[in-house]
Amino acid sequence: MHSENWQTQLASAFTDFQTLCDYLQLSPNDLTLSLDAVKQFPLRVPLAFASRIEKSNPLDPLLRQILPINDELKSYAGFSDDPVGDLNAVKQTGVLHKYHGRVLLINTGACAIHCRYCFRRNFPYADLQLSKQQESEVIQTIQNDTSIQEVILSGGDPLILNDARLARLFEALAQILTLKRIRIHTRLPIVLPVRVTDELLEILKNSPKKIIVVLHCNHTNEIDEDVAKACQRLTSAGVTLLNQSVLLQGVNDDVETLCSLSERLFEVGVLPYYLHFLDKANGTGHFQVSKTKALALLTAVQNQLSGYLVPKLVTEQAGELSKQYLHSVL
Ligand SMILES: *Cc1c(COP(=O)(O)O)cnc(C)c1O
Ligand code: SF4
Repeated sequence: MHSENWQTQLASAFTDFQTLCDYLQLSPNDLTLSLDAVKQFPLRVPLAFASRIEKSNPLDPLLRQILPINDELKSYAGFSDDPVGDLNAVKQTGVLHKYHGRVLLINTGACAIHCRYCFRRNFPYADLQLSKQQESEVIQTIQNDTSIQEVILSGGDPLILNDARLARLFEALAQILTLKRIRIHTRLPIVLPVRVTDELLEILKNSPKKIIVVLHCNHTNEIDEDVAKACQRLTSAGVTLLNQSVLLQGVNDDVETLCSLSERLFEVGVLPYYLHFLDKANGTGHFQVSKTKALALLTAVQNQLSGYLVPKLVTEQAGELSKQYLHSVL
């Protein structure tokens, strides 16, 4: 499997219930699968990630993140298609400029995995992602706005772009003197660690800008030896590694899981950054953890771990100038 390149592995991801169930030794009858949920947001999980799901366990925390189930069709009060006001923050195609000093680029709408709780699952990506030509217009915009110190490559997952395309983008960004940092928000080194190619490491190593990679991992079981190796390769290329998780009912909403995630992340060279309170996107209500419970969990984690292993519990509120710490919005 590891001799295949990442694009091949990506193309052969599981997209079909039955094949996935067979591989995981599960009967569809053990699960509340929903074809209507698949129509809204297709099933997608590469083998490298699926191999970390425990066989014959319908309650596996990694499985829960990717399995389209009936609960997605329920509607919940306060949930919508654009919970964080992204559509209002779009100034130019593919560019979200919400916060001072930072712009976020939607480099692609595609992802290696489809996370059922994703707040962008209902986002009109096809209309908003950057084409190659729009990318150069965006570079111009960033150049003209000297308040921008940091560019965040996001999506979708920006590491879905091939290395040649990324190399051109990094070269263009290197020319912008007022830009200090390039941040990459990606789940790919977790989902498909072979994505951390030598070519990618060269791009990151050669950039004159400081590079931050913010991974997205929600559970200790997501970090196997291949992921650990990928993280180590990124670190050795001079990259600062952070992680963001989403607090998810049935996945990581207990003290032990959260503590072990932080410990494991640090073991592989990654600092916990954010623990996101779930954004209220339609189809994700069953992942919700109450604010009271979220705060109790964070306090318990704080009481067990070194300060630097405690992620910031944040929520995104439309119209605010930064992400909000949960304790300050209660
Ligand atoms: C989350 C986010 C950022 C980054 O915020 P930080 O608090 O610096 O991590 C930037 N732009 C947008 C639109 C975001 O949603
Ligand atoms: S990788 Fe990120 S953007 Fe893609 S589906 Fe998962 S949470 Fe959403």
